[in-house]
Amino acid sequence: QDEYKTRGGLKLEDIFIAVKTTKRFHQSRMELLLDTWISRAREQTYVFTDEEDEALKRRMGDHVVFTNCSAEHSHLALSCKMAAEFDAFLASSQSWFCHLDDDNYLNPQALLKLLSSYSAAWDVYIGKPSLNRPIRASETLPNNKTKSVRFWFATGGAGFCISRKLASKMVPWASGRNFLSTSELIHLPDDCTMGYIIECKVGGQLLSSSLFHSHLENLQLIPSTQLTQQVTLSYGVFENKLNIIELSGPFSPQEDPSRFRSLHCHLYPDTSWCLQPGGW
Ligand code: UDP
Ligand code: MN
Repeated sequence: QDEYKTRGGLKLEDIFIAVKTTKRFHQSRMELLLDTWISRAREQTYVFTDEEDEALKRRMGDHVVFTNCSAEHSHLALSCKMAAEFDAFLASSQSWFCHLDDDNYLNPQALLKLLSSYSAAWDVYIGKPSLNRPIRASETLPNNKTKSVRFWFATGGAGFCISRKLASKMVPWASGRNFLSTSELIHLPDDCTMGYIIECKVGGQLLSSSLFHSHLENLQLIPSTQLTQQVTLSYGVFENKLNIIELSGPFSPQEDPSRFRSLHCHLYPDTSWCLQPGGW
C-alpha cells in the first residue's frame, strides 16, 4: 500500500491536489470521484466548492473547502475558486500544486512518476496546452490603454501542475484578491489567467505533456492499453457526442457511463466493488 506512494524520492504526500466543483455536481460527479481515485489519494486531495453540503462533508471531513465564490459559470466565479485553491496550496507545506476539474480521473501513481522527473525547486508548469499556438489577449494597462500579449496555457479541464518554486514567484499576481484582479485585466477564464501570470509576468514556460486529457479532445483515440499510464482522463460531451474513453469492462456503459469505475478496476483490481464472480 505504501510502496507506490514513493517514487524517486517524491511522495504522494508532497502533492497538493485541488478539485474544483459546484453544488449541483456534488452528487453526480463528486460521488464518482470519491468512490474511485480520491479513495487512493485521500490525504492530499482538497475539494473546492460553493455551497455547504453535509453529505460531502461527511465523506471528506476538513478536505472540503466551502469558498464564498458564487455558483456560476462566470469567469469571476471560476477565478474565485482557482484563487482559493492556490491560496490553500500556498498555506500548505507541499511541494507541488495540481488542479483538476470534477470530471477528471487522476491516476496518482502516473502523476507521481511524471512529477518525479522534475524538481519542485525549479520553475515547472506542466499540463496539456489548450491550443496548438499561443493565445492572444489584450491586457488593460493602468492608463486604460491596452497591450497585446501572447502566451501558452494549460487547459484547466485536463488538469495541470505547478511547482512550489514557480508558485512562490506568482504570489504578487495570483494570491488572495490578486488573482481576481489579474483575471479581470485580461478578461479571460481562470486557466488562461494562470498561463498569463506564468508566461507574461513570471517568465515561466508551459511544459506540454500528452498524459493530461480533457473532454475537449476525442478520448476514444487513446489506445486502451495506454489508459492506465495516463495522468488524467475525463468524460463529457464533445461536438454534441458523448466523449468517453474506450474500455470494454468490467462495467457496462449503462452501469458506468463515464467509464471511470471500469478504469479504476483495471488500476486497482483489489477494490471491493471490482470483484466480479467469474472474473473479467
Ligand atoms: N464549475 C463551477 N461552477 C459552475 C460550473 C462549473 O465551479 O457554475 C466547475 C465544474 O465543477 C468543473 C469545471 O467548473 O470542475 C468545469 O465545468 P464543466 O465540466 O461543467 O464545464 P466545461 O467547461 O468542462 O464544459
Ligand atoms: Mn468539463
